[in-house]
Amino acid sequence: MSTTRRELGALTLAQLQGVLVDLGQPAYRASQIREHAWQRGARSFQQMGTLPSSLRHQLGAELSFQSLEVTGETSTDRGLTVKLLLRGADGEEVEAVLIRHPGGATARPRNTVCVSSQVGCAIGCLFCATGQLGLRRNLTAAEIVDQVRIAGQIWSVTDWGSPTNVVFMGMGEPLHNYEAVVESIRLLQDWGLSPRHVVVSTSGLVPEIDRLAAEKLPIRLAISLHAADDPLRDQLVPLNRRYPLAQLKEAALRFSATTGRRVSLEYVLIAGVNDRPQDALALRRLAASMRAHVNLIPMNPIPNSELIAPPQRVCREFAVAVGPRASIRFSRGERATAACGQLRASMAALPRRTALAADAHRQLVGAELTTNSPTD
Ligand code: SAH
Ligand code: SF4
Repeated sequence: MSTTRRELGALTLAQLQGVLVDLGQPAYRASQIREHAWQRGARSFQQMGTLPSSLRHQLGAELSFQSLEVTGETSTDRGLTVKLLLRGADGEEVEAVLIRHPGGATARPRNTVCVSSQVGCAIGCLFCATGQLGLRRNLTAAEIVDQVRIAGQIWSVTDWGSPTNVVFMGMGEPLHNYEAVVESIRLLQDWGLSPRHVVVSTSGLVPEIDRLAAEKLPIRLAISLHAADDPLRDQLVPLNRRYPLAQLKEAALRFSATTGRRVSLEYVLIAGVNDRPQDALALRRLAASMRAHVNLIPMNPIPNSELIAPPQRVCREFAVAVGPRASIRFSRGERATAACGQLRASMAALPRRTALAADAHRQLVGAELTTNSPTD
């Protein structure tokens, strides 16, 4: 077993052709390999039936077929949503969520893969299971691409086709793993998935938002806002202390001006914390000034936290108060996207930051109980 084998998922078509030529094979084999590994859902080189058996062996010796192994799979919503637990070569685990949107009269069907970009996350948002883990390591570009390839394998047994959309809303802060994330987007493009169908979700790393805009990739950017005023956002998303809302808003506007693509806002609704009428009003103003759509996501419960979603009625009232720019995600598939980070957290209870998070959260909820005062 060699540790120096290159990863298939990290090779562009041109690079794969180079590997074949070096093996004394015709370059066109590269497209056949790609077709097996992408459209036909092959799970190993051995399953690439149209290749000569000697080549399949050569490929196995030369390349690693994939960088992640599936160690858990749960399916809900009659198979439309599948959650995968995936293990890297070092034993670290991440998750990916596969969401089939059947489409309808006005919308085409979509196969969306919600991918992870890191094992854990350093940002430590108060309501997020991944944040409780702290950062364990970055994923490689191959590990990101392979989440999408594995999704393709799972969908290949249906007649739904290959992955069509990728959202970086799994574990980790994608812009904290900038190089690998951008490389994975370029590789996915080479594998046949357009950057137009990629959403990068960020908690708000301002310099990296500018850097991403300069890449001139036509991706969409989602900003995880969760609060429209600095004191509250400082508590929910600690990164806000470094890049406060005014800076984040300017960076988002620069991103849309440079790329021509609109930015959307994510807002996890937490009972008694950011669901008050004044929060809705502040969000309405901020979203209008950014011309941004707002996705409201009722919070999914996480271990070691008392924070919960508001009742549905409160969520709906909040959405109405924010106005036509807002929509709530109640559907099961979309909830699964928002629930990224929880499968691993529940399977491997290693919440390094739990004490910290619990403290901050006690302060927050405590503060909330006394805040009928006009100071907020
Ligand atoms: N780190 C990036 C991307 C991963 S998190 C970011 O924060 O944007 C993807 C989305 O899931 C974010 O909008 C995040 O706020 C949301 N999320 C995290 N924990 C959640 C929870 N417990 N319930 C609902 N959404 C959650
Ligand atoms: Fe990290 Fe995103 Fe979770 Fe915040 S919400 S801790 S940035 S993964």
